[in-house]
Amino acid sequence: MTVSHGFELISEQTITEYKTLARFYRHKKTRAELLSLSNDDDNKVFGITFRTPPTNSTGVAHILEHSVLCGSRKYPVKEPFVELLKGSLNTFLNAFTYPDKTCYPVASQSLQDFYNLIDVYLDAVFYPRITPFIFQQEGWHFELEKKASPLIYKGVVFNEMKGAYSSPENVLAEYSLQSLFPDNPYGFDSGGDPKQIPNLTFEQFEAFHRAYYHPSNARIYFYGDDDPEERLKFLNESLKDFDPMEVNSTIPLQSPFDRPRRIIRSFIVGDEDRDKPKKGMFTLNWVLAESEDVQTNFTLHIIEYILLGMPASPLRKALIDSGLGEDVAGEGLGTELRQIYFSTGLKGIEMEEPRYGNLGNPGPERDRSSNHRSCAEHHRIPFTRKQYWALSAGSFPDAAITDYLAL
Ligand SMILES: [Zn+2]
Repeated sequence: MTVSHGFELISEQTITEYKTLARFYRHKKTRAELLSLSNDDDNKVFGITFRTPPTNSTGVAHILEHSVLCGSRKYPVKEPFVELLKGSLNTFLNAFTYPDKTCYPVASQSLQDFYNLIDVYLDAVFYPRITPFIFQQEGWHFELEKKASPLIYKGVVFNEMKGAYSSPENVLAEYSLQSLFPDNPYGFDSGGDPKQIPNLTFEQFEAFHRAYYHPSNARIYFYGDDDPEERLKFLNESLKDFDPMEVNSTIPLQSPFDRPRRIIRSFIVGDEDRDKPKKGMFTLNWVLAESEDVQTNFTLHIIEYILLGMPASPLRKALIDSGLGEDVAGEGLGTELRQIYFSTGLKGIEMEEPRYGNLGNPGPERDRSSNHRSCAEHHRIPFTRKQYWALSAGSFPDAAITDYLAL
């Protein structure tokens, strides 16, 4: 077994299409995984990702993503992320919270700048200065604007998610995904539901960092024309002080439903939309294969493109031509999570009787009625099985179904 700078080489492969040599390593001491891609591209990329499965919708993973970029042991400045944005030669610099992982990617064409960026990011994720103050600033806190005013919630992520939850399409996408995975972490909003964010404590926040931001739970990659040996040497310096840790962050598979499920939820409308005709949205959603099955993944992408990708695509056309809604809704194919899912439907659906009321069966049971968001005014109308069939042009797949109708 080849070992270099604390990393053992597990496998090696040439990717001819990209003129790239791919080497997969494991850090001997901590078990951190490294994918090292070497080619002649001078736009060098580095990324470190941790699995961060949530157990609720308090947005802990998202708040942590913001907070680790607010100063660290070696870089104790207020906003290193902002300093790097303005002061470095980066060609890419960001961080992302997914429903199951948090990623920190950087890129630069300058070698020195590239390693500076990596150094700041590694110090940020492993040694962040997460204080109660930063938690309150990035997560949530009370604010009193005037002595006589009521206390209100504020916080960077709290405000960001309030914005996200005021977009009906965004809420539709979130609920569609959650409805497909009621038994695993995808059933929660890793970004944070503004109603749940204030339930998060500083202790839970700190514990989340301790549990998941560890080399034993890290996947790291390098890409570009920089020296591949130097990558190992540099990383080993950052990782060697950690002891290995048992991290249970695996995402369990969602078992198939024994029958389709229908869920109705409401969303908030602004004052200016109150007097407009009542409109709703719905999606049909399916859980498909595991995303690591490359061939199926690729095949599903082609099928999605054929079905929805062009104006004349048959499913897109059938949805639009049905006249039941104003435009296509839903995210289409999602392949970034452990299980692939497909979500499509219509928005701008007329909510008035009798157009949908005379199509047949009684409405869906309200599986999640306790979770309905309260809103100033809402209106729900059931879709029937007949309508779903009409819209999906086929029979039910034996996975899951969600509809989403509201004012
Ligand atoms: Zn954010």
